Amino acid sequence: MSKKKSFKKRQTRRKPQWQVDIVNERIEILFNLAKKEFDNKRFDLSKRYVYLARKISMKYNIPLKSIYKRQFCKKCENYLVPGINATIRTNSKEKAIIITCLDCGHKTRFGYSKDLKT
Ligand SMILES: [Zn+2]
Repeated sequence: MSKKKSFKKRQTRRKPQWQVDIVNERIEILFNLAKKEFDNKRFDLSKRYVYLARKISMKYNIPLKSIYKRQFCKKCENYLVPGINATIRTNSKEKAIIITCLDCGHKTRFGYSKDLKT
């Protein structure tokens, strides 16, 4: 339908640092809340906070920090606590940490060479 020409130039501007900071701060708050609700056994709420944190990260196109990436299941968005609803295995051959969500069985793999520093 629309034959309107767009004269907008493609902007490849970098995100201002203040925006990155605000988003990271919000994500941190949401993950803290997720942990708190998980401890209170309100799993639906903790899941909801993980969902919101991911949504913010996607909206602003700012990736989650690696410490948060390993705290939830990418498939079912459960907040994961090793020993309760997740297991952690290290694979020295692959130099990877494998986190298995006990709810849906989804396995997430992390290379640990670069993550060891954090
Ligand atoms: Zn899962």
